[in-house]
Amino acid sequence: MAKVYDSIVIGGGILGCATAYEMAKLGSKVLLVDKGYIGSGSTGRCIGGIRQQFSTPATIRLAMESVSIFEQMEGIEWYPSGYLFLAQSEQEKIKYLEVMKIQQEMGLEVEFIEKKDVLSLVPMLNGDRVIGGTYCKRDGQANPFLVLKFYVDGIKKLGGKILTYSEAIKICNEGNFFTTTLRDINSHKTAEFKSSIVVNAGGPWLNEVNSLIKGNQQLPVISECHEALITEPTFPLFDPMLVSYSPSCYFQQLRGTGQIIGCYTPEQPIKGIDHNSTYNFASEFSSRVLKLIPGLADLRVLRSWTGWYEMTPDGNPIMGETNIKGYWVIGGASGHGFMFGPALGKCLAELICTGKACISVKDFLLTRNFEEKEKFS
Ligand SMILES: Cc1cc2nc3c(=O)[nH]c(=O)nc-3n(C[C@H](O)[C@H](O)[C@H](O)COP(=O)(O)OP(=O)(O)OC[C@H]3O[C@@H](n4cnc5c(N)ncnc54)[C@H](O)[C@@H]3O)c2cc1C
Repeated sequence: MAKVYDSIVIGGGILGCATAYEMAKLGSKVLLVDKGYIGSGSTGRCIGGIRQQFSTPATIRLAMESVSIFEQMEGIEWYPSGYLFLAQSEQEKIKYLEVMKIQQEMGLEVEFIEKKDVLSLVPMLNGDRVIGGTYCKRDGQANPFLVLKFYVDGIKKLGGKILTYSEAIKICNEGNFFTTTLRDINSHKTAEFKSSIVVNAGGPWLNEVNSLIKGNQQLPVISECHEALITEPTFPLFDPMLVSYSPSCYFQQLRGTGQIIGCYTPEQPIKGIDHNSTYNFASEFSSRVLKLIPGLADLRVLRSWTGWYEMTPDGNPIMGETNIKGYWVIGGASGHGFMFGPALGKCLAELICTGKACISVKDFLLTRNFEEKEKFS
């Protein structure tokens, strides 16, 4: 006989875990399922950066809410290391100053700092390349695996159930109930679970999960491959995540281990999910970093890997109820899912359980106009 839950959340990445945890807190009997292990999708491949320096009031507010949640979580290696967007030309400075006005109006503590202050934050930086930068000292970093652990422990404590290596392969909606069929990845046995709510938090597989339900609307999300790299540990060198647009790359030193970790956004998007890590990325990323910090030349690369950004047309996440009553979706965080996750999951849980989120989420609903693009992608 099918087991009954109030809600089934499909996908054990940051968005599914945060949603399931917040729903359990609001009294929902939750089942969270993942076809792999918790964190086996994008979340376990992200570099742990958390910033609030976005370009629209909605994304700034969402990120500020997330930071206030990260700050309260115990045991996640949260560290307010800051984010420093490097200005390397007058045009870049003008763009940063324009956006900074919006950020400051939203109450974000962000400032434009001159070259000498940039160099005092990052003494090894190649001074020829920068004229200043925007700096928010309350941006930071956390360990994605420990954040997921925080949620998993919390869901279990609140009476929720988690099934890993369990793939959702069919979802039928009849009347007020969904019947979700799960297949155990190891034994291939199937089992049915009933619920009045289904949340699709399938990350890069959002559309695959969506296709399990008949009569649903298309989701405006495509997956793109992104590579990342981590070095061996070294002495504490600098705190903030450095974001550079010329050359394009972003990297930080992990507070916990002293390793340098980072990425760059490919000039030509690499669509899909089947893409391995490449030597070209490792060598190109290293050469970009060395242009900014030549003194890292002797640091050895430990490993590199590939993950996915779930991209929407405007670069902002999607969340909310679909055209099918009781079927909700959360995803498309476009490379910012880890930092948005805690607030986005909380807001979705509130919408589902109480009908109202603690902050405005109208700009993230599926019904929005997707034309206004996030400037700091
Ligand atoms: C290299 C890299 C660096 C990044 N750095 C950052 C960063 O510094 N800061 C930041 O905020 N973001 C970063 N991101 C983006 C971030 O990782 C993602 O936006 C975020 O993890 C998305 O979370 P998610 O929960 O939507 O998806 P995921 O973590 O992918 O979770 C989705 C889960 O759904 C499961 N699933 C799929 N289909 C099914 C099914 N049929 N049945 C059961 N389970 C299923 C999958 O197994 C998966 O575990 C980075 C991404 C990459 C690739």
